[in-house]
Amino acid sequence: MSEECIFCRIAKGEIPAEKIYESDNVVAFNDINPIAPTHVLIVPKEHITSLNQMKDDKSSLAGEMIMIAREVAKKTGVAEGGYRTIINTNRSAGQEIFHLHMHVIGGRPLEKMG
Ligand code: AMP
Ligand code: ZN
Repeated sequence: MSEECIFCRIAKGEIPAEKIYESDNVVAFNDINPIAPTHVLIVPKEHITSLNQMKDDKSSLAGEMIMIAREVAKKTGVAEGGYRTIINTNRSAGQEIFHLHMHVIGGRPLEKMG
C-alpha cells in the first residue's frame, strides 16, 4: 500500500472512478482519458509498482487479471470485434502510473504494432 498512490486510493474508494468490476483482489475501472470507446484499467488492489516487482507467487493474481480482461471485453461488447491488452512497464513503454495495471482497449480498429 502506498499512501499517495492514485490507484491504491481508487482501490480503497478514496478517489472516485467508474468501476465496472471488483473482486477481493482486483478492481477494473474506465480510464479517465480513453483512447478508444472501450478503455478499461485492470488493477490489483495490492500495491505492485510494475510488472518488474510482481513476485513469482503472484501467478494466480496475474491469471485473474487476464480473465477479468476477457470478462470486461465481453461486458463492454468488444470481445468478438477484438481488443488489446497492454501492460506498460517503466519509462520506455510510457508507464505513467507506478501501480501495476493492464489496459483493455477496443471498440475501434487499432493500429498494427511495430
Ligand atoms: P500508463 O501509461 O500505462 O501508466 O497508463 C496510466 C493510465 O492511467 C493512463 O491511460 C491515464 O489516462 C490513466 N489514469 C490516470 N489517472 C486516472 C484516474 N484518476 N482514473 C482513471 N484513469 C486514470
Ligand atoms: Zn498503489
